[in-house]
Amino acid sequence: MSHVFPRHTKNIPPIAVGGEGCYLIDANGKRYLDASGGAAVSCLGHGDVDVTNAIKAQLDKVAFAHTGFLSSEPAENLASLLIEHAPKPLDKVYFVSGGSEAVESAIKLARQYHLENGEPERKHLIARRQSYHGNTLGALAAGGNAWRRAQFDPLLINVSHIAPCYEYIGRNDGETTHQYGQRMAQELEDEIIRLGPETVLAFMAEPVVGATMGAVPAVDGYFKRIREICDKYGVLLILDEVMCGMGRTGSLFAADVDGVAPDILCIAKGLGAGYQPIGAMLCSDKIYAAIENGSGFFQHGHTYIGHPVATAAGLAVVNALLDRDLITRVQKQGAKLKQMLENTFGQHPHIGDIRGRGLFLGMEFVSDRDAKSPFDPSLALGAKMKKTAFENGLICYPMSGTRDGKLGDHMLLAPPFILNDNHMDQLVEKLGKTFDAVLPN
Ligand code: PLP
Repeated sequence: MSHVFPRHTKNIPPIAVGGEGCYLIDANGKRYLDASGGAAVSCLGHGDVDVTNAIKAQLDKVAFAHTGFLSSEPAENLASLLIEHAPKPLDKVYFVSGGSEAVESAIKLARQYHLENGEPERKHLIARRQSYHGNTLGALAAGGNAWRRAQFDPLLINVSHIAPCYEYIGRNDGETTHQYGQRMAQELEDEIIRLGPETVLAFMAEPVVGATMGAVPAVDGYFKRIREICDKYGVLLILDEVMCGMGRTGSLFAADVDGVAPDILCIAKGLGAGYQPIGAMLCSDKIYAAIENGSGFFQHGHTYIGHPVATAAGLAVVNALLDRDLITRVQKQGAKLKQMLENTFGQHPHIGDIRGRGLFLGMEFVSDRDAKSPFDPSLALGAKMKKTAFENGLICYPMSGTRDGKLGDHMLLAPPFILNDNHMDQLVEKLGKTFDAVLPN
């Protein structure tokens, strides 16, 4: 009898006892192809010796030093490495233990920045519907996923949500992709004006939306316009790359492709690659200077920020990404896998869209391709897909609620960057089996 509190009380998971490259192995010896890296975490696969050695070496030196007293070598080195490659003017790194903590820290830093600048009336956060920013109360309030928020709504801070940039569903007939992106960005300016520009502290968005839409990048030009609007009204731009960052979409930082630099950037997941729980918030020199020249103290903190072992793991992961040229591999293997998905499922009557960037790919399921109509939520398609795929030895990430409310189903694929052609064949074969079993004929 297990005493671990499971995610689903009616679905007690098997015990993982091993990990080898792209596979996880349970206590019965069953092997699972990890095609979602858990939830876009295991970018290096399982059992990476360089990372485990770095962790062991750090444990032998110093396991923990509280940042109220001491910093550590791996934290210093990892921060420098991230800043060397991050969009300018990001200049400082605040390490935390995961994605939600990074987002919470970002919201609080944005608020404190405006206070330090003598603008205490800035208190409104704007984010987007169909976004997920984490499960702690501040991050949950920022996210727009109706299903995740429903029970906790009375506890959440007030956040305005505008429409996501979701071309497959949102672009009107006769509208160009560019016009669509500009129209969606205009929603931000309209909302800032509605709230009163002097009251808005920040806008938060995922450059490539993950959990709530299945790998949906914004259209070209959208984030450039968003940046202009933020600058016009003194609103900070917070980009949440917890899922899509760290090489996942084919560049170390996803925002590189959009050609914008945020004021605050959140990363996690792939930063520790699952070897240690770690996340980070990167902020621009302007924000740091406001604190440095003001109170001198960011009113925040957790016991495990800048943890030496977690940052040693992060350092080994980022070095592996760079030294092994894994980001180029993401671009190549991602393009190949997307092509295979299109060749195999592109004409499937219930797959309306195959999308994504790098090894961050998604598929949207529809009852009717022409009408793009979603399936009835009572079919619980996502849950069935997850179960059937798992029985077939495939870990993937199906989700329901792709469209506002409960409608819409998609699947997210985020395999380890070491995925080879043989893994891809298995992946597509297992997906096909899953679709045959779950999607209507
Ligand atoms: N932000 C995004 C974009 C995410 O996808 C997630 C998790 O899926 C989070 C934040 C929260 O991260 P964590 O689960 O590590 O708290």
